[in-house]
Amino acid sequence: MSHVLAAVAWPYANGPRHIGHVSGFGVPSDVFSRYMRMAGHDVLMVSGTDEHGTPIQVQADADGVTPRELADRYNRVIVEDLHGLGLSYDLFTRTTTRNHYAVTQELFGGLLANNYIIRKTTLGAKSPSTGRTLPDRYIEGTCPICGYDSARGDQCDNCGNQLDPEQLINPRSKINGEVPEFVETEHFFLDLPAFAQAIGNWLDQRENWRPNVLKFSRNLLDDLQPRAITRDLEWGVPIPLDDWRDRNDKRIYVWFDAVIGYLSASVEWARRTGDPEAWRKWWSADGEGKDSLAYYFMGKDNIVFHSVIWPAILLGYSGEGDSGGEPGSLGRLNLPTEVVSSEYLTMEGKKFSSSRRVVIYVRDFLSRYDPDALRYFIAAAGPEANDTDFTWAEFVRRNNDELVAGWGNLVNRSISMAAKNFGFVPPAIDLTPEDEALLAVAREGFTTVGELIGKHRQKAAIGEAMRVVAEANKYLSDQAPWKLKDEADKPRMGTVLHVALQVVSDANTLLSPFLPHSAQKVHELLGSTGTHQPMPSIVEVEDLDGGPSYPILTGDYTVGARWESVPLEAGTPLAAPKPVFKKLDTTVIEEELARLSS
Ligand SMILES: [Zn+2]
Repeated sequence: MSHVLAAVAWPYANGPRHIGHVSGFGVPSDVFSRYMRMAGHDVLMVSGTDEHGTPIQVQADADGVTPRELADRYNRVIVEDLHGLGLSYDLFTRTTTRNHYAVTQELFGGLLANNYIIRKTTLGAKSPSTGRTLPDRYIEGTCPICGYDSARGDQCDNCGNQLDPEQLINPRSKINGEVPEFVETEHFFLDLPAFAQAIGNWLDQRENWRPNVLKFSRNLLDDLQPRAITRDLEWGVPIPLDDWRDRNDKRIYVWFDAVIGYLSASVEWARRTGDPEAWRKWWSADGEGKDSLAYYFMGKDNIVFHSVIWPAILLGYSGEGDSGGEPGSLGRLNLPTEVVSSEYLTMEGKKFSSSRRVVIYVRDFLSRYDPDALRYFIAAAGPEANDTDFTWAEFVRRNNDELVAGWGNLVNRSISMAAKNFGFVPPAIDLTPEDEALLAVAREGFTTVGELIGKHRQKAAIGEAMRVVAEANKYLSDQAPWKLKDEADKPRMGTVLHVALQVVSDANTLLSPFLPHSAQKVHELLGSTGTHQPMPSIVEVEDLDGGPSYPILTGDYTVGARWESVPLEAGTPLAAPKPVFKKLDTTVIEEELARLSS
């Protein structure tokens, strides 16, 4: 048994999330966490909404609300969406809690004390009309390298070069078109070059990482520069220094506080359980958390933050960069065991885009389809190791051919035949080699499927679980229990159905990390009671330190099935089953495509 941290990327609270987002961070982290809990590990799965930064400020201005009001709105939308998908967070919180502010400021202070934070004067762009800082990506102008006339202040999308906004020819604000003013401004920078060696050594010891993630991370070490961790902005965590904390024009940069969320959410979770030090079991590099494991889940655009920048913050706070130092009051902290990054999901051959309406939001999806249908698609056909296209035709095909005609059909015909002919789970008498062979396939699934999930190969894992289903369907066709109607054949019919029901039970457990909602239904159809797959709840809570209240996702996941075959008891009553999965009419394909282009 290990302590396992599942640290899940923080969705940005400037709008509802689409299915591309939850394919990258949401469903894979939940499948992994559910499996690890079933296998007996003590899992802590944390995340929350990322709510600071310029995009939220800019959108709040456009909507005529405060940034906090905008964040409140989308925090709630996102909490409800993740709840609808059944994602089993121990705590899904947000970055606007006072606890998060305190932990962020503690890490800032620790890094500063160990001399890993540098003070620098730079040129910043300001809007002459509002006096506000214009972030790089809100400045547009002509690329000094290729002449493209819509280059952004951070990058030219035409030639791909990284830019600084003052390099742009004819710079203008994307918000209101005015010419920005460049003024000197003082900021704090994280001294990333001081960690190149320590991070290089750590990356050298990484095992099992996806090779592209490791290679990408190593390449980043060749050109590390100090990185700004403060910003000219009024919306964010205040800088915890005298002469700075009361200024309302300087804040900690959103990326810096967002990665600290993994730690602050763990601390908040512990405080809410009544054991405020319990987070150390997952985080302390000394003592009780020493052997814990930490898995970080995200889309590939976020690798740099998790494989280089967050480790640098953790190392610096622990006093383990080039300048040495002492750990802060939280002690030495664990680095990631593995950075699990997914590739991109596209939609009907195009990049997801809210503005161009190439999008389906999680909530619209869940209003028309079952969560397990989406979870199945993501696990079986999602962007695990390659960019992958979501098409409605493929979604309908997989739902109908695999979930309904494969798994749903096995469940339905086994249980209905047993219910009709016996009314209970019939006893198994004299197993044949064919019976034994099928039972063995299902039992072996616990090893193969479990190992694949543990290695983040979920596509192969669900493929193996569905292979058990296919073998069981073939077994039923071969044994044809419906032909064993004579009184003399009834014991053999009972045996075949017992074997089939046992394999339904085993396959249900194997599929349950992927399909938790339907796993609970199948569990009940088999006449079993109690929780098979626990579900998260939305709970309205008070801020622990006096801020406004907010909704969290949490749950008791200590109940539920273990990762093992549970022998069915002959005589357990069975009723005629209701279908577990819904067949989709192929007309939905055209309806959805029409919605996309409207
Ligand atoms: Zn260019």
